[in-house]
Amino acid sequence: MLDCRNLVVTYESTPVLQNLSIYIDAGEIVALIGPSGSGKTTLLRCIAGLEVVDSGTIHLNGEEITTRSANLRRIGLVFQDNQLFPHLNVARNISYSLKIQGMKQKLIDEKVTEALELVGLTHLSQREVFKLSGGEAKRIAVARALVAQPKVLLLDEPLSGLDKELHARLLDDLGNLLRLRGTTAVHVTHDQHEANAIADRVLDIRNLMSF
Ligand code: ADP
Ligand code: MG
Repeated sequence: MLDCRNLVVTYESTPVLQNLSIYIDAGEIVALIGPSGSGKTTLLRCIAGLEVVDSGTIHLNGEEITTRSANLRRIGLVFQDNQLFPHLNVARNISYSLKIQGMKQKLIDEKVTEALELVGLTHLSQREVFKLSGGEAKRIAVARALVAQPKVLLLDEPLSGLDKELHARLLDDLGNLLRLRGTTAVHVTHDQHEANAIADRVLDIRNLMSF
């Protein structure tokens, strides 16, 4: 499914990813752990096409995508701080990527409704995003990432910084949602408990590199 081989990324002569290899099966949820600064975000950015690798290859479903531009990779990304578009309402945040693809409005409306149902927030479709609570904004970020039916969903510490109760609820909901849809996902966290709760497999990024 997703196959990264011998990825190398160096920032100003400091190696960040050193011969990193990781293979993820279709439908598998992998949690990626590792200390701050160990390269977790950098790896996700490479997979998503937001970062250029110095060497190594990335294959998705047998096709090499190492140098393919980000918008053609069909890889979804959820950031810790959501990065919703502040000037667009909920529906327009979710529909943004579909509009860019040139999808017809009627189909876009159907897909947005479906994505909102998935995260249980149909009633917030016209809300401005700055009026959302932390938990709502997180669900909208997940809906926005899933609406384009990505082949792989990457989540970069999506549940960090939430209070304990909300964290537990969203962790539960996110796990159920990913499994229900058979989503292939890489979930980055520094929380071992969260990793064990959501993932089929927990990997420490330091064990994926060879020196
Ligand atoms: P993590 O997500 O595991 O905390 P990162 O991938 O964000 O780690 O960062 C790994 C290392 O690369 C850190 O030392 C960080 O300072 C460095 N780094 C990340 N992005 C850049 C950049 N654009 N330029 C220079 N150094 C960077
Ligand atoms: Mg990070």
